Amino acid sequence: MQNSKETSCPCRELDATQRSYAQCCQAFHDGRGNLMTLPDTAEELMRSRYSAFVLGLRRYLLDTWHETSRPNDLELDSQMRWLGLEIHATRAGGATATRGVVEFEAHYSIGQNRGSQREVSSFVRENGAWFYVDAL
Ligand SMILES: [Zn+2]
Repeated sequence: MQNSKETSCPCRELDATQRSYAQCCQAFHDGRGNLMTLPDTAEELMRSRYSAFVLGLRRYLLDTWHETSRPNDLELDSQMRWLGLEIHATRAGGATATRGVVEFEAHYSIGQNRGSQREVSSFVRENGAWFYVDAL
Protein backbone atom coordinates (compact mmCIF):
# COMPACT_ATOMS: atom_id res chain seq x y z
CA MET A 1 0.00 0.00 0.00
CA GLN A 2 1.37 3.39 -0.93
CA ASN A 3 1.55 6.32 1.40
CA SER A 4 0.25 4.27 4.29
CA LYS A 5 0.75 6.95 6.94
CA GLU A 6 -1.74 9.28 5.25
CA THR A 7 -4.27 6.79 3.98
CA SER A 8 -7.16 5.84 6.23
CA CYS A 9 -7.00 2.24 7.33
CA PRO A 10 -9.06 -0.09 5.14
CA CYS A 11 -11.15 -1.00 8.19
CA ARG A 12 -11.94 2.69 8.86
CA GLU A 13 -13.07 3.81 5.43
CA LEU A 14 -16.70 3.90 6.57
CA ASP A 15 -15.76 5.06 10.04
CA ALA A 16 -15.93 8.66 11.25
CA THR A 17 -12.54 8.36 12.97
CA GLN A 18 -10.69 7.70 9.69
CA ARG A 19 -7.62 6.49 11.51
CA SER A 20 -4.65 5.91 9.27
CA TYR A 21 -3.33 2.42 8.57
CA ALA A 22 -0.21 3.26 10.60
CA GLN A 23 -2.36 4.19 13.62
CA CYS A 24 -4.69 1.25 13.21
CA CYS A 25 -4.10 -2.24 11.80
CA GLN A 26 -0.52 -1.94 10.56
CA ALA A 27 1.10 -2.78 13.90
CA PHE A 28 -1.00 -5.95 14.16
CA HIS A 29 -0.03 -7.00 10.64
CA ASP A 30 3.66 -6.18 11.07
CA GLY A 31 4.06 -7.44 14.62
CA ARG A 32 2.50 -10.84 14.17
CA GLY A 33 2.83 -12.91 17.31
CA ASN A 34 4.52 -10.18 19.35
CA LEU A 35 2.47 -9.70 22.53
CA MET A 36 2.97 -5.92 22.40
CA THR A 37 1.19 -5.68 19.09
CA LEU A 38 -1.71 -8.07 19.51
CA PRO A 39 -5.25 -6.71 19.22
CA ASP A 40 -6.79 -6.04 22.66
CA THR A 41 -10.34 -6.77 21.66
CA ALA A 42 -12.26 -9.10 19.40
CA GLU A 43 -13.39 -6.09 17.36
CA GLU A 44 -9.77 -5.02 16.77
CA LEU A 45 -8.92 -8.50 15.56
CA MET A 46 -11.99 -8.46 13.32
CA ARG A 47 -10.90 -5.11 11.87
CA SER A 48 -7.33 -6.27 11.34
CA ARG A 49 -8.57 -9.39 9.54
CA TYR A 50 -10.79 -7.33 7.28
CA SER A 51 -7.82 -5.07 6.49
CA ALA A 52 -5.74 -8.17 5.81
CA PHE A 53 -8.36 -9.31 3.28
CA VAL A 54 -8.16 -5.90 1.61
CA LEU A 55 -4.36 -5.97 1.52
CA GLY A 56 -4.11 -9.64 0.56
CA LEU A 57 -2.25 -10.71 3.72
CA ARG A 58 -3.01 -14.42 3.51
CA ARG A 59 -0.51 -15.40 6.19
CA TYR A 60 -2.04 -13.04 8.76
CA LEU A 61 -5.51 -14.40 8.04
CA LEU A 62 -4.37 -17.97 8.56
CA ASP A 63 -2.36 -17.10 11.68
CA THR A 64 -5.36 -15.42 13.33
CA TRP A 65 -7.71 -18.28 12.47
CA HIS A 66 -8.28 -20.67 15.37
CA GLU A 67 -6.61 -24.02 14.77
CA THR A 68 -9.92 -25.88 15.16
CA SER A 69 -11.46 -24.17 12.14
CA ARG A 70 -8.47 -22.90 10.14
CA PRO A 71 -8.44 -23.95 6.49
CA ASN A 72 -5.28 -25.57 5.14
CA ASP A 73 -4.93 -22.81 2.64
CA LEU A 74 -6.76 -19.70 1.66
CA GLU A 75 -7.31 -18.34 -1.78
CA LEU A 76 -8.22 -14.69 -1.99
CA ASP A 77 -10.52 -13.68 -4.81
CA SER A 78 -8.60 -11.14 -6.85
CA GLN A 79 -11.81 -10.01 -8.62
CA MET A 80 -13.22 -8.81 -5.35
CA ARG A 81 -12.68 -5.20 -4.34
CA TRP A 82 -13.42 -4.45 -0.71
CA LEU A 83 -15.17 -1.13 -0.16
CA GLY A 84 -15.51 -0.86 3.57
CA LEU A 85 -16.40 -2.45 6.87
CA GLU A 86 -19.32 -1.72 9.18
CA ILE A 87 -19.36 -3.10 12.71
CA HIS A 88 -23.02 -3.59 13.65
CA ALA A 89 -22.70 -5.08 17.12
CA THR A 90 -20.24 -6.60 19.53
CA ARG A 91 -20.87 -8.87 22.50
CA ALA A 92 -18.17 -9.43 25.11
CA GLY A 93 -14.74 -9.53 23.42
CA GLY A 94 -13.30 -6.73 25.56
CA ALA A 95 -9.73 -6.37 26.78
CA THR A 96 -10.30 -8.82 29.67
CA ALA A 97 -12.62 -11.28 27.94
CA THR A 98 -11.74 -14.67 26.50
CA ARG A 99 -14.69 -14.90 24.12
CA GLY A 100 -16.33 -12.41 21.88
CA VAL A 101 -18.85 -12.02 19.10
CA VAL A 102 -18.78 -9.36 16.39
CA GLU A 103 -21.54 -8.74 13.88
CA PHE A 104 -20.23 -6.94 10.82
CA GLU A 105 -20.95 -6.18 7.23
CA ALA A 106 -18.19 -6.06 4.62
CA HIS A 107 -19.01 -4.21 1.41
CA TYR A 108 -17.45 -5.21 -1.88
CA SER A 109 -17.73 -4.96 -5.60
CA ILE A 110 -17.05 -7.54 -8.29
CA GLY A 111 -16.98 -5.99 -11.73
CA GLN A 112 -20.12 -3.87 -11.98
CA ASN A 113 -21.86 -5.60 -9.09
CA ARG A 114 -21.87 -4.42 -5.53
CA GLY A 115 -22.75 -6.49 -2.55
CA SER A 116 -22.09 -7.02 1.09
CA GLN A 117 -21.35 -9.93 3.31
CA ARG A 118 -22.97 -9.79 6.74
CA GLU A 119 -21.74 -12.19 9.35
CA VAL A 120 -21.84 -12.85 13.07
CA SER A 121 -18.36 -14.08 13.92
CA SER A 122 -17.14 -15.67 17.10
CA PHE A 123 -13.70 -15.13 18.56
CA VAL A 124 -11.74 -16.72 21.36
CA ARG A 125 -8.66 -15.52 23.22
CA GLU A 126 -5.89 -17.89 24.21
CA ASN A 127 -2.68 -16.82 25.95
CA GLY A 128 -3.46 -13.20 25.19
CA ALA A 129 -4.09 -13.67 21.47
CA TRP A 130 -7.50 -13.36 19.86
CA PHE A 131 -8.47 -15.85 17.14
CA TYR A 132 -11.34 -15.99 14.70
CA VAL A 133 -13.29 -19.21 15.28
CA ASP A 134 -16.27 -19.29 12.95
CA ALA A 135 -19.48 -17.68 11.82
CA LEU A 136 -22.48 -18.27 14.10
ZN1 LIG B 1 -7.69 -0.79 10.80
